Amino acid sequence: LLQLFRPLNMLGWVYRSIKQGLIDMEQMFALLDTPAEIVDAPGAVPLRVHEGAVRFEGLRFAYEDGREILKGIDLEVPAGSSLAVVGSSGAGKSTLARLLYRFYDPSGGRILIDGQDIGRVTQDSLRAAIGIVPQDTVLFNDSIGYNIAYGREDAPQDEIEAAARGASIDGFIARLPDGYETKVGERGLKLSGGEKQRVAIARTLLKDPPILILDEATSALDSRTEEAIQSTLEGVAKSRTTIIIAHRLSTIVGADQIVVLDEGRVAERGTHGELLASGGLYAELWNRQAAERALEEAVE
Ligand code: ATP
Repeated sequence: LLQLFRPLNMLGWVYRSIKQGLIDMEQMFALLDTPAEIVDAPGAVPLRVHEGAVRFEGLRFAYEDGREILKGIDLEVPAGSSLAVVGSSGAGKSTLARLLYRFYDPSGGRILIDGQDIGRVTQDSLRAAIGIVPQDTVLFNDSIGYNIAYGREDAPQDEIEAAARGASIDGFIARLPDGYETKVGERGLKLSGGEKQRVAIARTLLKDPPILILDEATSALDSRTEEAIQSTLEGVAKSRTTIIIAHRLSTIVGADQIVVLDEGRVAERGTHGELLASGGLYAELWNRQAAERALEEAVE
């Protein structure tokens, strides 16, 4: 009977391993949120990034028929500059970023990178040019070094360590029991929200893309961690075209350009100072968040 159990045990192990593998894949797809139907256009050519200028032209998009989320967005993000996208929840901020990464194709209009329509270039080359620091980073059940190198598994150790330094997570890793080999994720060491975000920043630094999407976390980190991450991100964004999906306006005061999305359209655009002075939606949002901050500080 025992003889019979051994292979069964083995099967169980294989099943669990595969299942875990599937969970990782699921997490990845949740992270990427990629519908399978996006394919390279016939005759797609690699994207050639010269400077990394991004342009949204008459962009329209609906996830489902009859409910248009973006209703004609025109935006220009000069190479190396930063654009912050704000607006109420559900305004379509993340959708704009998803279209840039080509998780979906627009129903109208187009997106250009250095003059090339992203719908006509190969997806591999497009995605190689764009780095995303997502709201929530899903860690793989593997070492912290693997998690940083993810997407560039051939990266030499010194580059992984340089990326960790750039993301200011090197000190933390040095204190881990097995350093870069320490297992993290569901079955390893659990990292805090801030630490996970730093892993994502390090991963992005290693990828070294000319275009960056920062999807700011909705769940607030404590204010000291947030400030520290903010300054790390500013360093990463320097000299890259950066699109920031912002929830807290305090983090985007220095952006070169801020746009407010409302009802699928660009309602306002300008710098922080210009938008405050014009006393519109942005000013209203700013005042509301400032009041909330003051209240939180009073409670603390
Ligand atoms: P938040 O500030 O809450 O993150 P957002 O401005 O980033 O919001 P989006 O995530 O872009 O908003 O969503 C815009 C709208 O599209 C929302 O009404 C949302 O419910 C809808 N939406 C988002 N993803 C999908 C999807 N996969 N299928 C159908 N509708 C979706």
